[in-house]
Amino acid sequence: MELIDLRSDTVTKPTPEMRQAMAAAEVGDDVYEEDPTVQKLEALGAEKIGKEAALFVPSGTMGNQLAVLTHVNRGDEVILEAESHIFYYEVGGLALLSGAQARTIPGRQGFMEPEQIVHAIREENIHFPRTGLLCLENTHNRAGGTVLTPEQTKMMADAAHKHGVPVHLDGARIFNAAIALGVDVRELSAPADSVMFCLSKGLGAPVGSLLAGSKSFIVKARKNRKLLGGGLRQSGILAAAGLIALEKMVERLAEDHYHARLLAEGLANIPGLTVNPDDFPTNMVILSLEKYPLTAAEFVNRLKTHGVLAGALSDKAIRFVTHKDVNEKQIKEAIRIIAQVVKGLN
Ligand SMILES: *Cc1c(COP(=O)(O)O)cnc(C)c1O
Repeated sequence: MELIDLRSDTVTKPTPEMRQAMAAAEVGDDVYEEDPTVQKLEALGAEKIGKEAALFVPSGTMGNQLAVLTHVNRGDEVILEAESHIFYYEVGGLALLSGAQARTIPGRQGFMEPEQIVHAIREENIHFPRTGLLCLENTHNRAGGTVLTPEQTKMMADAAHKHGVPVHLDGARIFNAAIALGVDVRELSAPADSVMFCLSKGLGAPVGSLLAGSKSFIVKARKNRKLLGGGLRQSGILAAAGLIALEKMVERLAEDHYHARLLAEGLANIPGLTVNPDDFPTNMVILSLEKYPLTAAEFVNRLKTHGVLAGALSDKAIRFVTHKDVNEKQIKEAIRIIAQVVKGLN
């Protein structure tokens, strides 16, 4: 049975062109800053995202944690959206690696009201921690790949900057947001002091993310990357695929968004399911099972026996993610299979 893998865009495989570029990559020791391919990728990444400099890191998680470590001091408080990846999915790294404590704000599709942010920023008081950082996330993963507009991003960042608090943007899928909004990605990154984005996931590189910011920030982050064990040697082999991800794989994200729209519309047409396609502007669709007797894990297992792989997002919600390695025919087949499984429940 052919599996239709909609668990995540992290399952994408490198393209033949990426594999060729990896085999042919010119390399050197990047800890000595002698890898020309890594340098080329960092320069291109910085330019595309509109920051002075960028640093290649093995994963998005390392890029985010490195950003926090570089921005804050031990004992600082970091303001984050309550369902954000940095808070929810990064193994407590905020506390463990940076010695920071989290101050979470529940948002709406990743957006936190500027007043909420200002309210959370600590005044000077002998009892209080210092507010060291505000983190934003675009697209917002747990909200279903929702997007923050340039205006929303600026409003939130301004609230922090007015009080001297720097801003980090977890832009793991920032190019999905830019494509969905039809804006230059720089409009989305400009309000933030640092930005992390993934070359893996939808862009298809096998490994790697970039952390971007000012020159002086990246100098500090480079040293912290060494501390975390992220100083790599001939990593140009990986960067070669990253270059293709940035140069050739961004525009095609629109196709993934089209497929997610098809999927959401298909689900909305299944009797008994309530899905609003407009809630999912990028490459994710979330299906709520509130009305059904099964848990998300049980539903995911049933889908799997019929050849569709999805992820349980919570007890009662399932997430589907479209990506370059699923085509329109497979999306239609997935809709048919999901309809069958739902029918079995009714
Ligand atoms: C995937 C993801 C990350 C982490 O990236 P990894 O490469 O999986 O470590 C960070 N933030 C968000 C929003 C993500 O979706």
